[in-house]
Amino acid sequence: GSLGPEQEGLVVSHFGQQVEVEGQDGQRQRCHVRSNIEALVTGDSVVWQAGNPTGVIVARQTRRSLLERPDNFNRLKPVAANIDRIVIVFAVEPEAHANLIDRYLVAAETVGIPPLLLLNKADLIDSERHQKLLAMCERYQAIGYPLIQASKHTEHGLDDLSNTLNDHISVFVGQSGVGKSSLINCLLPGTDTRVGELSEATAKGRHTTTTARLFHFPAGGSLIDSPGIREFALWNLDREAISQGFIEFRPYLGLCRFRDCRHEQEPGCALLEAAEQGKIFPERLFSYRQIIASISEN
Ligand code: GDP
Ligand code: ZN
Repeated sequence: GSLGPEQEGLVVSHFGQQVEVEGQDGQRQRCHVRSNIEALVTGDSVVWQAGNPTGVIVARQTRRSLLERPDNFNRLKPVAANIDRIVIVFAVEPEAHANLIDRYLVAAETVGIPPLLLLNKADLIDSERHQKLLAMCERYQAIGYPLIQASKHTEHGLDDLSNTLNDHISVFVGQSGVGKSSLINCLLPGTDTRVGELSEATAKGRHTTTTARLFHFPAGGSLIDSPGIREFALWNLDREAISQGFIEFRPYLGLCRFRDCRHEQEPGCALLEAAEQGKIFPERLFSYRQIIASISEN
């Protein structure tokens, strides 16, 4: 069939050799990808031509950011492109652990995408019982991370969240049970957001795939979601990335007496000194050591 004129588009889901693309008029169409183009992923900006029944992708624009995850052979595979914001969701129940939040923060810093901390189920906060949790939140804010409290029950924080997500392509990450699906359903009313249940029709029949999908928030901004993306921080991290990923450690890295300092007990450790002088939080140094210990086991 004949093809329409070249136009800009946004990849909203991808499966094997095909992608679904959204044109500037908001219409979506299945497209084949020219063989000279490297693997496309959800979030990619492309140049494409509409066609009947399928269009064709003719070029891919430069990516602003890329999430990659290791496959079974430890080769990095692209997962989603052009994400500007990683929303790290944690909750009052199940109780958030600083160590896990730090892993997400390190992962976000490593890919260079600004994180937003979201304390969910804020309706359950009891200022007496949750002193530790609230102190942890204050530490992150002191380091410079933005933090929003939200609740689907009281709708507290949802406007604030919508405003923050405006103009960005975001992903929501966090442990199971913290309320990510609930939040996403509040932000995307009337949308079928079940992830991993998109069926792909191929010559061999229909099967389901767990591709990432892009959704637009009614108040502006977009979400890319998949079950894999939600576990993003648990992908690979190396030692160097971990120390750089604790952003407030950066001024002290390289100042330790020993070049291979592990920041445990070594004399002349600049991080230990900074912690003793109240310049970095000892909780973060403790968390750093825990993350290093967990990767050394693998
Ligand atoms: P996900 O695994 O992160 O997607 O979490 P879900 O959205 O499935 O939520 C897990 C549980 O937390 C469900 O029982 C929700 O009803 C509950 N939940 C979600 N948001 C809130 C909230 O704002 N407040 C309270 N109290 N419970 C919530
Ligand atoms: Zn040191």
